Amino acid sequence: MEFSLKTSKMQEFINITNQVREVVRKSGIKNGLAVIFIPHTTAGITINENADPDVVRDMIATLDKVYPVKGDYWHMEGNSHAHIKASLMGSSCSVIIEDGDLKLGTWQGIYFCEFDGPRTRKFYVKILNG
Ligand code: ZN
Repeated sequence: MEFSLKTSKMQEFINITNQVREVVRKSGIKNGLAVIFIPHTTAGITINENADPDVVRDMIATLDKVYPVKGDYWHMEGNSHAHIKASLMGSSCSVIIEDGDLKLGTWQGIYFCEFDGPRTRKFYVKILNG
């Protein structure tokens, strides 16, 4: 299943857990694996805390400190920081499905990570039975 989302900032994390959960429910699959894939080179995906939004703020701020927007980069498009951050977060994640739901920890959320926005982005969700 393909999803489209519009990011509104240069860098932001968007919680997509509910959309993934909905795909799992509609699939009717009770046990298996949900794979979420991001088809971009300057956006990624990660699982982290869903309770305190300051966690996301701190992650972006710290990534920026280590990989600043302007730095000693050669890539002429000028968005090397975003390519690096996207690779660090990764382009896919998998979550176990048990009893028809994502087996996430209480405080875990799945985040689409924008590093070169705002843009219209995509992500894919594939449900595997097993
Ligand atoms: Zn680039």
